[in-house]
Amino acid sequence: MASRHEILRELRLAPEWRLRRGDIVAGQDANAPVEHAPAPLQSAATRLGRIATLGWDEFAADVEACTACGLCRARNKVVPGVGDMRAQWMLIGEAPGAEEDARGEPFVGQAGKLLDNMLAALGMNRRENVYIANVLKCRPPGNRTPVPVEVDACRPYLERQIALIRPQLIVALGKSAASLLLGTDASIASLRGRVHRVRDVPLVVTYHPAYLLRSLPEKAKAWEDLLFARRTLAASLSEAGAAARE
Ligand code: URA
Repeated sequence: MASRHEILRELRLAPEWRLRRGDIVAGQDANAPVEHAPAPLQSAATRLGRIATLGWDEFAADVEACTACGLCRARNKVVPGVGDMRAQWMLIGEAPGAEEDARGEPFVGQAGKLLDNMLAALGMNRRENVYIANVLKCRPPGNRTPVPVEVDACRPYLERQIALIRPQLIVALGKSAASLLLGTDASIASLRGRVHRVRDVPLVVTYHPAYLLRSLPEKAKAWEDLLFARRTLAASLSEAGAAARE
């Protein structure tokens, strides 16, 4: 029987990456008090209405101009999302880290390399038939967990992305995405392995790639989750095809 290491190599999930130490950079102290939003220049309702009707042409510029929460003060680049704007798969993570903040693209650090390898093992890549976004479009200082005021401020952008892409499957990567999308505080362990629905789109939950970097045994579970996601998408497409033929 193949060893776990051999299986992970075969899946291109090995070698195991490790988080580097000292990821917190000057001015990015995770314990810094949460900054509150600058004075609003427009009413919340006006903002929501504008974001809810944005087209792709205006989307990135709107996020770039956003000052709805204090994260705008420390960001280098906003990180709206990457991939195929008509993708069947939409993957949603938590928030940009240091490398994403520097490059303006989600999941380009170590966790992103793992995610890319997992996609490659499924015969996919981040540019074709996949769209990757985060709950937050700006980096929280020191990569701390997003706080509710930030999630609430950024939520309309994620909702607009889902509406524009109209994915056939959403994969929530980790707790922040699962909690926001499903409105629950339940653990990833209790949410994975089931098909949830958001706006009638099937949603599958798995571990966040950064967590997988620290926890080798969960990589095999995350791989099971992605295979489950692929089967879920195939079943949903075949149901939709059968309904269209009726
Ligand atoms: N972690 C995330 O949740 N998103 C990224 O873009 C990078 C790391």
